[in-house]
Amino acid sequence: GQTWSQHLFSIATGNPRSLTIQHSDEFYLFMNMWAEFKWLSYQMTLKCWVQATEEYNHCLVKKTGQSVIQKNLQALLCALDDIEPKLMNCIVKDEYTSKRNNETFWCHHCSVVPLVKEEQGEKVSPTQTCSRCQTIMYPGAENSPLNHKQGYCTDGVKQVSKSSEDLPPWPQPQGLFSEGCTFHLHTFLLAVQRVYECIFMQGPGEMDLLEMEAFAKLLASCTEICEDGAVLFQLFADFVVDPSIPRNRIVTYNDKQWLRINFLQQL
Ligand SMILES: [Zn+2]
Ligand SMILES: [Zn+2]
Repeated sequence: GQTWSQHLFSIATGNPRSLTIQHSDEFYLFMNMWAEFKWLSYQMTLKCWVQATEEYNHCLVKKTGQSVIQKNLQALLCALDDIEPKLMNCIVKDEYTSKRNNETFWCHHCSVVPLVKEEQGEKVSPTQTCSRCQTIMYPGAENSPLNHKQGYCTDGVKQVSKSSEDLPPWPQPQGLFSEGCTFHLHTFLLAVQRVYECIFMQGPGEMDLLEMEAFAKLLASCTEICEDGAVLFQLFADFVVDPSIPRNRIVTYNDKQWLRINFLQQL
């Protein structure tokens, strides 16, 4: 059978065809469902996206047959990242023409979904999207809880790395990171155990699928197995660690700081 790390890698990578919406029938189906169900990035929770992905795949199979490669949640998110700014541009500039699609197509899609705040009948220019989680930064009024936090995403990871390291992919499980600066080791170790149990014991449990994927990616990219069997997780230059676990679990190896994951070592 596969080892835990192979499992994590397969979750983290998946079938590349399942990760993007490429063909025109896949794209138009996405756009039509987007308009029908109003899949707005700033209103969608992760649970909504899981459901949206299921509905999308259901329709995709109905449309193109059983042999189609079903889409991963990430594919829908990517398609939305791609399409939302374009649609907002259309609305703001009142330009509904595009090289690839006809005017009525865009006009229809711009009108059905309230992407841009209308203030006193005037169209307000949409603000930027977060470079990490791709949600719209300020969908609400000033100080609205709908707005993106200053400097960090909903999972507590900072938006931009101050060192040159890669940031953990969005969305990490809640509680691992906070306010863009702290990495909570105790919660991290619990999440390792939870992901392991989800994969090996009873399939996806109460853990959010998107979060599980993002976490598996993080593990796969930052974990090393030493010759003596120790499983080490490389700590971040961008985050300080909280003092929730004994310091002797943190080791220096190849001039870097690592957290020893005893739980995985025992397997
Ligand atoms: Zn963000
Ligand atoms: Zn903590």
